[in-house]
Amino acid sequence: MEYRRLGSSGLKVSELSFGSWVTFQAQVDDSAAIELMKFAYDSGVNFFDNAEAYAGGESEAIMGRVLKKVGWRRSSYVVSTKFYWGLHEGPNEKNTLNRKYLMQAIDGSLKRLQLDHVDLAYCHRADANTPMEETVRAMSDMVTQGKVLYWGTSEWSAEQIMQAYQIAERYNLHKPQMEQPQYNMLCRDKVEREFGRLYQELGLGLTTWSPLASGLLTGKYTKGTPVGSRATLPGYEWLEGRWSQKDREETVPKLHAIAESLDCSCGQLAIAWCLKNSNVSTVILGASKLAQLKENLGASAVVPKLTPEIMAKISSLLGNDPIKR
Ligand code: NDP
Repeated sequence: MEYRRLGSSGLKVSELSFGSWVTFQAQVDDSAAIELMKFAYDSGVNFFDNAEAYAGGESEAIMGRVLKKVGWRRSSYVVSTKFYWGLHEGPNEKNTLNRKYLMQAIDGSLKRLQLDHVDLAYCHRADANTPMEETVRAMSDMVTQGKVLYWGTSEWSAEQIMQAYQIAERYNLHKPQMEQPQYNMLCRDKVEREFGRLYQELGLGLTTWSPLASGLLTGKYTKGTPVGSRATLPGYEWLEGRWSQKDREETVPKLHAIAESLDCSCGQLAIAWCLKNSNVSTVILGASKLAQLKENLGASAVVPKLTPEIMAKISSLLGNDPIKR
């Protein structure tokens, strides 16, 4: 396992990390979660991603029980959570980044995770109804209180990240260190174009999500939707509507052929492609089964096979380079 710095920070995260969205609780119970997290950790994964909203708090509770049971040294792993959607219906309990919500949300997450601090805390989405300064001060205060070590954002625009950074700089507060955007072969714009100047100017690190576009890039949806896959789970039917027929029936099979020529799976090719981007600090993997995680962790070994010629072949096949478009 290779480790990369989280942007300009000194924190090192494994280039492949493991997250619990969709899977924990709905597909993965405590015993499966232990198996997956142990395998990841033993393979060198040191970052486990979570969020308050995943499975209505249950994803944090499962991860907390796993961490307690395995008893790993706290200094040997990095855990995250994220705030915005909330767990309750009140006006200050959902869809907000106001100070009241944030200061109480971190305490709830720490309780469920059975930890006294998380390493990374994200504003899960931006909130147009709270002044940016209020959010930045609350996130910075979590760091000052020792409940969070680094804070960042998820799916914010470059402009919003820049504004938060400048406020933090102006008032000598803790600055946002990382952003968590979607990044995969079919979703490139933010990472490759919009965030362009933030890497150098702010030292922004990226912890990227959905490297397989929820499984599409493994090729498993090419000939229909397999029983038990994510797109068949109650509440996730919308995924199919997001995937274009062209990607499903043409692009993915062509990627599959490239993967075959490199002696790897299509999913490994897709993950390795994300790793080729040096602005990515870590690619967060998702897996509902151990066999998937094992396969996906093999992606690091595929990176050296992605020569400039192969990358150019993939690029022309995808036809979505945000810089050239
Ligand atoms: P992926 O795009 O890699 O999708 C993972 C899913 O794809 C698995 O749960 C599984 O679904 C399927 N899959 C994975 N590997 C294989 C394989 N080898 N063969 C066949 N199917 C496979 O990642 P996620 O969308 O899960 O995102 C990863 C993490 O990123 C999340 O856990 C979360 O921590 C984070 N995230 C953050 C978001 C944010 O807003 N900040 C949003 C979304 C995710 P199945 O078996 O059910 O078909």
